[in-house]
Amino acid sequence: MIGNSRRYALKASLSAGAIVLLDGLGCQSAEEVDLASVASSPLSRPVFIATWPFGLAACEKSQRTLTQGGSLLDAVEYGINLTELDPKVSSVGVGGLPNADGVVQLDASIMDGQRQRAGSVAALEGFANPISVARRVMESTRHVMLVGQDAAAFAQASGFESQELLTEESRQAWEKWRSNQAGKSIGEKTHDTIALLGVNRDGQVAGGCSTSGLAFKLPGRVGDSPLIGSGMYVDGEVGAAGATGVGENVLRYCGSFLIVEYMRQGMSPTEACISAIRRIATGDRKSPAELSVNFIAINKRGQIGAAGTDREFRCAVVEQQRSLLITPHMVTS
Ligand code: ASP
Repeated sequence: MIGNSRRYALKASLSAGAIVLLDGLGCQSAEEVDLASVASSPLSRPVFIATWPFGLAACEKSQRTLTQGGSLLDAVEYGINLTELDPKVSSVGVGGLPNADGVVQLDASIMDGQRQRAGSVAALEGFANPISVARRVMESTRHVMLVGQDAAAFAQASGFESQELLTEESRQAWEKWRSNQAGKSIGEKTHDTIALLGVNRDGQVAGGCSTSGLAFKLPGRVGDSPLIGSGMYVDGEVGAAGATGVGENVLRYCGSFLIVEYMRQGMSPTEACISAIRRIATGDRKSPAELSVNFIAINKRGQIGAAGTDREFRCAVVEQQRSLLITPHMVTS
């Protein structure tokens, strides 16, 4: 995550209420606000929330898609497509950092709260928009998840065009890792996910997420993102949640499902995110700071929430005409 956070440096101060100009995000400006000032009551629907500052352009695309008559699922898909196609985002889609063999393997999932449908792909190679392939799995097969070469064959047969996903920059990063770091731990965190959740005017809920996973991972490693209930979950009666961070620490607890269930029991989205992190920390007998788990959530009324253990974690929110960058609740103990 540090890679992208650095690249997408905010050009102005991050004091609450400041209007900040964003470099390289494909959007004009956003208001930096305290979580508390926007999370205590529902925002005006439609509302989109996404992980990381690069999620802002994605949320804006989602909002535009709805305005132009697209469905909520279109909004989620096209928003995430924007991030997948941005080669500067080194943790999603084109330009995503590769696995230990130098191959970009992508994970993604999508969910429709209207009919509780889901689709996902894991370890997909050679296709820039795994979220679109995941949607196709959901809509045109009787399955939920396809993996590896067979997911790629499905994408090809469905008319998606294959392409090289490794950019020169990502290849150089891999070469550097291979010559300096192979066999040692990776010094800095080099992974992120776009998780994007939306609630439309009528209170319908959908969500998706897409990632290249942990940089230089073992070939075939699958993280939380394509696992329904781990990296993302939607329940049309309640709301949705999504995750970014070390997938292994999320998927052992079905983190996103847990958050949605906490919301069902009456917690606010932020309380639910905090409780999930505490639950993981307790289970792992670790302090939150050691976990690298970060969550966003929204309920069907349009109330948003977020909490994380990584200092750099930010999330993006777009409600009607307002674009917001939010520092989530940090869970430190
Ligand atoms: N959760 C992703 C994974 O483990 C990576 C991230 O979001 O930072 O694949």
